[in-house]
Amino acid sequence: MKNSNSRRDFLKKSAALATLLMAAQKGVLGTIANASTSKSAIENNSLNFFEENVKTSEDGKFLLPILPYSFDALEPHIDKLTMEIHYSKHHQAYVTNLNKALETIDPSILGGIPTFDNIFDKVAKLPPAVRNNAGGHYNHSLFWILMLSNTDKHPTGKLADAINDTYGTFDEFKKQFSDLSMKRFGSGWAWLVVNKGKLVMGSTANQDNPLMNLDSVEIKGTPVLALDLWEHAYYLKNQNRRAEYIASWWNVVNWEVAESLFLSAK
Ligand code: MN
Repeated sequence: MKNSNSRRDFLKKSAALATLLMAAQKGVLGTIANASTSKSAIENNSLNFFEENVKTSEDGKFLLPILPYSFDALEPHIDKLTMEIHYSKHHQAYVTNLNKALETIDPSILGGIPTFDNIFDKVAKLPPAVRNNAGGHYNHSLFWILMLSNTDKHPTGKLADAINDTYGTFDEFKKQFSDLSMKRFGSGWAWLVVNKGKLVMGSTANQDNPLMNLDSVEIKGTPVLALDLWEHAYYLKNQNRRAEYIASWWNVVNWEVAESLFLSAK
C-alpha cells in the first residue's frame, strides 16, 4: 500500500469481502443460488466475481469463494452430489490446508500478503503443501466460473476465431483437448492457455497449473479453459469412465467467461 487512503480502501474492501464469504460459508450460498433472479445475476458476472473476490485474501488468509450457481445447476451433465462434495469438501480442504501451510513459511519469501501471483512466482522456494493447496484453490476457483448450465456449447467471437485459426475447426480442437485429457496419467488438469498471444493446450499433474514458475510444468501461459481430471470430479457419477465425464463437461463450458479470459490475456 502506497498511502493511507489506499490502505484504508483495502481494509474496507477486505472486511466487506470477509463478511460476504463468511456468510456464504454459513449457508447463505444456498439461499442466493436457489433464487433464480440472483442466480442469473451472479452467473452473468462470474468473471468479475473471480477478479474481485477469489484472488483476494484478508490478512493473508484465503477464503472459499461463493459458487456462482446451485449444486444441481449443471445436471444432468455434472450431478448435484459430485458438485456438493467437490466444492464443500475438496475445494474447502485446499483453502484450509493452504492457510495452514502458509503459517509455516517465512513471510518475507513472498514479499507481502500472500496472493496467487506471488505464490505461483515463488513456488519453487515454497513447501509442497503450499504448491499443492494454492494450486488446488486457484484451479477450482477458475473451474467453477468456467461452467454454466444451458450454454451455447460452442465458442463465439474472437476466441472462436482463434480456435479455428489454430486448430482448423472447433471439432478438431475438442478432439485434441479431449485426447490430451485422456492421456494425463493419474490426477491433473487439462488447460487451454494464451502464451505470447497464441493458444496452446496441455495438461499438468496434481494441482500444478500454467501460472507456476516451475520447469516441471510444461505448459505455461494465462488460462482460458481448465478441466479437472481428478477422479473426485467424476467418480460418483461416471465411476472410472473419464471419457464420459469429458464428453459431459463440453455441455457446460461457459464460453463467455472463456472468451473474456482470452481477451484479457492478449
Ligand atoms: Mn477437483
